[in-house]
Amino acid sequence: MAMFIRVDVDNNIVEKTAGLADKLVEVCPVKIFKPGPQPSAVEVVEENVDECTLCDLCMQASPKGIRVVKLYE
Ligand code: SF4
Repeated sequence: MAMFIRVDVDNNIVEKTAGLADKLVEVCPVKIFKPGPQPSAVEVVEENVDECTLCDLCMQASPKGIRVVKLYE
């Protein structure tokens, strides 16, 4: 379980945009997203979540579908 970061995915939103799931898998530099169980959905790779660099690329790709939450201050 990640200690420092939580990544929330709303696949109802991600699935609505063609190619968005693939883009998320591609854009994250530390491979936090993998293709989900349904086509056009993504799943979070829990063991990579703490590697998140807060680069914001996933939220730029899907401002409504992805939320990266810092669990520390
Ligand atoms: S902020 Fe960057 S490193 Fe973190 S999950 Fe999004 S794309 Fe990956």
